[in-house]
Amino acid sequence: MKASVSCKQAIILLAKKEENKISLLERIILKIHLVICPPCKDYDIQDKMIRNAIKTSPLEYSLTKDEKNVIIKTVIEDNN
Ligand SMILES: [Zn+2]
Repeated sequence: MKASVSCKQAIILLAKKEENKISLLERIILKIHLVICPPCKDYDIQDKMIRNAIKTSPLEYSLTKDEKNVIIKTVIEDNN
């Protein structure tokens, strides 16, 4: 993996980070991207807010891994 990533790759790394599947190198690359790319930084902040809201909501339903992957794939394809 190169030292710099596209916004699309950064979003994928953010998703991997949430699932604790990110390597140390990827974590560093992501951190650098978030410093130089305000839109991705905003995405990260909003994503955390949404995740927190979901965690603290009284809803009992949570998405399965497959359902999450479908959403991530759809978002990535819509941004192409
Ligand atoms: Zn970006």
